[in-house]
Amino acid sequence: MHLQSIGAAETVTGSGHYLELGGLKLLIDCGLFQGNDEQEARNREPFPFEAAALDAVLLTHAHLDHVGRLPLLYRRGFRGPVYCTPPTAALVSTVLLDSARLQQDGYTRELKWARRTGHESQVQLPLYDEEDVHNTLALLRPQLEFGRELTLGQLKIRTERAGHILGSAFLTLTSGGERIVFSGDLGNRESGLQQDFTLPQEADAVLIETTYADRTHRPLDQTVQEFARALNQSVRLGGKILIPSFAIERTQVILYTLKRLMDSGEVPRIPVFLDSPMAARATNEYFEYGDELIPEVRDILRGGEDPFRPSTLHVVTSSQESQRLNRYDGSAIILAGNGMMTGGRIQHHLKHQLWKPSTSLVVVSYQSPSSLGGRIVEGAKEVRIMGEEIAVKAQVHTIGGFSAHADQDDLLAWLDATGKAKVWLVHGEVNVMETFLGVLSGRGREADIVPRGEAVDPLSTHFPGGRPPGLETGPVREMRAEAGE
Ligand SMILES: [Zn+2]
Repeated sequence: MHLQSIGAAETVTGSGHYLELGGLKLLIDCGLFQGNDEQEARNREPFPFEAAALDAVLLTHAHLDHVGRLPLLYRRGFRGPVYCTPPTAALVSTVLLDSARLQQDGYTRELKWARRTGHESQVQLPLYDEEDVHNTLALLRPQLEFGRELTLGQLKIRTERAGHILGSAFLTLTSGGERIVFSGDLGNRESGLQQDFTLPQEADAVLIETTYADRTHRPLDQTVQEFARALNQSVRLGGKILIPSFAIERTQVILYTLKRLMDSGEVPRIPVFLDSPMAARATNEYFEYGDELIPEVRDILRGGEDPFRPSTLHVVTSSQESQRLNRYDGSAIILAGNGMMTGGRIQHHLKHQLWKPSTSLVVVSYQSPSSLGGRIVEGAKEVRIMGEEIAVKAQVHTIGGFSAHADQDDLLAWLDATGKAKVWLVHGEVNVMETFLGVLSGRGREADIVPRGEAVDPLSTHFPGGRPPGLETGPVREMRAEAGE
């Protein structure tokens, strides 16, 4: 067995793991690096394998940091099958088309600025375009199903529920008596919408994400109560209530929670505007694949109701309609992307509302300290939005408990089922992984951190003592949110 990570080694974004097993060359996930310029530059690095020689790609789930470099893989010559679950295939199309559009927009904007200084030759072209995305989507094979096995040559691929976002899976690969498990991103067992992850089989090696391997989440019902209190305080102020939100999973959790709180009378039925075309498209897939969700949501769907539609919901489609919301009088909730306020329609709402004392900003996602959201949450009195200095007079509420990632207890419960499998840590900050290594060694587990840019045999001990020398520390902390929290 030969393994080399092309991302999420010693960091949380850019997930991708190249594996040679059973005579096949496979890539598990092919995500985009996100966060800062240094991370994003890594998207342009060559792959440590020949793209055209890959036999197949396997996807764990549709988050951009797990699928965002697929069209680039296509561009570099890959034409093989991309296996995933049916809901993942549906979401991947929304995610990749949005990614191509954002890259084109960013390129156009940078070119405009660079022309003024005569530096247009220094502007980098987008990684890929919409045509690459459409060609990539044609390679998708939505043949992975929970609890089932797919056979590729001598290799068996078992798909199990990861409970992180709609369609998310962990994969167990078996060949010639060797077995390795890829966790993908594992869900919070109190996520609000997703059924719990299933437990893996005993294995020889396991790669596990460690986003929140150093903490325990607050119970979901406490978080919902905190959210309701923030909304009620906000309603009393009489202004707009802005909720910045990521399009996949977080938006649907918030819509479902709003519906429940409004139906039970805990929060008044004020208008709710969903101002994110991408979130609206993703929500349609949650409706389509409702059988995947927790029983109480399934029952609402089977009863003919839409669990993601508070009775006062308006879906805003055009940008003109979005701008008209500035003139809307009275209390209303506006849900818009993106979750860290670094772009998207939430920015123009912030520009028009943040300076008013009657406005409330309810933050339900992790904010990187360097993002606009991070600065507001940390108490900035003035922030720059779309080229203008805006005073922060709004009430800011931070609700930390809506996480889509497993916490330490979740991860340990899942890992225990793998028996004596050698544990490889990925998808985490180095200091979090080191804390988790300590916990694992206290439980008698052999564990290592997957090294960056180096191939390993996952069945051997790479670093005696479980700690590679000279690990990077620092800016990875800021990228946690990009990984979908
Ligand atoms: Zn994820």
